[in-house]
Amino acid sequence: MTGKVRKSDAEWRAELTPEQYHVLREKGTERAFTGKYWDSKEEGVYTCAGCGAELFPSDTKYDSHCGWPSFYAPLDEERVEKALDLSYGVIRTEVTCSSCGGHLGHIFNDGPRPTGLRYCINSAALDLKKE
Ligand code: FE
Repeated sequence: MTGKVRKSDAEWRAELTPEQYHVLREKGTERAFTGKYWDSKEEGVYTCAGCGAELFPSDTKYDSHCGWPSFYAPLDEERVEKALDLSYGVIRTEVTCSSCGGHLGHIFNDGPRPTGLRYCINSAALDLKKE
């Protein structure tokens, strides 16, 4: 992890809600259709709930019906980092916040144009900064 925001585990625990901590710092996944943003159509910029970095503009959000907020692209490619995730015996691409290293979700190849990608992100890892 080459993040700019570095905090101790105790600091993260103190600042984040238990759910945010579980997702961002323990690579947890919220249950489908339970997060606050999966069905949101509000406009703005989705920021990292850990460090406030702007990650996904609402105009790249689309209805994937998968139960998590889904975007076809980040604000720019440097905002997020991708890594191979072999947990649970499944090959997936994990996506993390470049700034704080927080776990956001995974990327799949079933997204819409123009990228064909689905950034499947936990609501708990996001904060919508409304326009
Ligand atoms: Fe972050």
